[in-house]
Amino acid sequence: MSSVARLLPTPEAHDLLELTSELADKELAPNADDYEARGEFPRELIRTLGRSGLLGLPYSAEYGGAEQPYEVYLQVLEILAGRWVGIAEAVSVHTLACYPLAHHGSTEQRERWLPDLIGGELLGAYCLSEPAGGSDAANLTTRAVREGDDYVVTGTKAWITHAGVADFYNVFCRTGGPGPKGISCLLAPADTPGLNPQAREKTMGLRASPVAQVALDGAVVPAGRLIGAEGEGFRIAMGALDSGRLGIAACAVGLAQGALDYATGYAKERVQFGRPIIEMQGLGFMLADAATEIAAARALMLHAARLRDAGLAYSTEAAKAKLFATDMAMKVCTDMVQVLGGAGYVADHPVERYFREAKVLQIVEGTNQIQRMVIARSL
Ligand SMILES: Cc1cc2nc3c(=O)[nH]c(=O)nc-3n(C[C@H](O)[C@H](O)[C@H](O)COP(=O)(O)OP(=O)(O)OC[C@H]3O[C@@H](n4cnc5c(N)ncnc54)[C@H](O)[C@@H]3O)c2cc1C
Repeated sequence: MSSVARLLPTPEAHDLLELTSELADKELAPNADDYEARGEFPRELIRTLGRSGLLGLPYSAEYGGAEQPYEVYLQVLEILAGRWVGIAEAVSVHTLACYPLAHHGSTEQRERWLPDLIGGELLGAYCLSEPAGGSDAANLTTRAVREGDDYVVTGTKAWITHAGVADFYNVFCRTGGPGPKGISCLLAPADTPGLNPQAREKTMGLRASPVAQVALDGAVVPAGRLIGAEGEGFRIAMGALDSGRLGIAACAVGLAQGALDYATGYAKERVQFGRPIIEMQGLGFMLADAATEIAAARALMLHAARLRDAGLAYSTEAAKAKLFATDMAMKVCTDMVQVLGGAGYVADHPVERYFREAKVLQIVEGTNQIQRMVIARSL
C-alpha cells in the first residue's frame, strides 16, 4: 500500500485496499502507457476487476455487490486512479450506470438484471448528454414514444463513455412535456435494435476509453425496462450524478497522488547545481503544496462520502469535492510537469499523460461551473 495514511472503518476495508493496491501494481501500472498510446480499451482487464468484485463495491450483497461504504469504494477508485486513471474512470462510470436500477428499479427488475450488472461480466454506460446540451440536461430532446409494450426511442446521445463496448445503456429520454418532469430512464441492452454507437471521438486524454455518440434510430426498448415511473428520469439522473461526482473526485485525487509520487521520485534523482532538485526550496515547496492540496481534496471527498454513508444529505458536499479535487488535480498535474522540466513535456514520463488526463475531470459529470452553480444555490 502507498504511504498515504488512511483511517478505514473495518479490517475488511483494509484488506480490500491491500488487494486493490496489489492488483493495480500488477495489472494496471505496467499496461497503462501501452493501452493509452494505442487507444485500445482493456476489456479483459475490466473483466479481471469485475471478477475481483470491484465493479459492484457499493451495491447490496443481496444482488452480488460487496456492500462497502462509499468512503471505502472511493479509496479503491483512488488507488486505481493512481496507477491508471482511465481504469478508475471506467469503474466509476460503470458504478454510475448501475445506480438507476439499484436505487430505483422495482424488486422484480433488480432481481432480474442487477446481479448481472454488478457481477463483473457486464459493463454499463450512462447516456444523458446530447449534442445540443450537456450542462442543460433538463432540456434534452431524445424522445421515447410508447407503442404497445415498447418504447420507440429517437434522438442522439453525445459523449457517451463506453459507447460501443458497453453491454447496457441507461438512456434518459423525453416521454412527456418540456423540462425535467418530462424525462424518463430506460435501461437498454447493447443489442437493442436501433441503438447504434457511432465512431469514437479523438480525445485529448483517456484515449483507451471509448467515447462516442449513440444514435437512437427508432430504438425499440420493452416498456418493462422503464426504471422508476415515467417523469422520474431527471431525478434519477441527478441522484446518480451526486454519487458519480464523488467517483470523479476520487479519480482526481488518485491521479494527482500518482503525479506527485512520480515527480517526487524524479526530483530526488535529478541533480542540478550539484544537488538533487528536491533540495531547491522553490521546487520542494511546489511538492509540499501539492501534497497538502491532495490531502485537502481527499478529506473533502471522504467527508461527503461519510455523510452519504450515514444517510445524510451530501449533494452539495459532493459538488464541493468534485470541484475542488478536479481543479486541484489540474493544478498539481501542471506543476508536476514543471518539476520534471523538459522531461515533463515528453511521453517518456507519465506526467505528460497525467496532465492531459486531468483536464477532462473538470468537464465530466457536470462541469466545474455547474458544480459552482449547485454550491451557490445551496448558500
Ligand atoms: C471524455 C468525456 C466523457 C464523457 N462521458 C459522458 C457520459 O458517459 N455520459 C454523458 O451523459 N455525458 C458524458 N460526457 C459529457 C459531459 O458530461 C459534458 O461534456 C458536460 O456536461 C458539458 O456539457 P457540454 O459539453 O455540452 O458543454 P456545454 O453545456 O455546452 O458548456 C460549455 C461551457 O459553458 C459552461 N456553462 C454552461 N452552462 C453554464 C452556466 N449556467 N453557468 C456558467 N457556465 C456555464 C460550461 O461549464 C462549459 O464551460 C462526457 C464528456 C467527455 C468530454
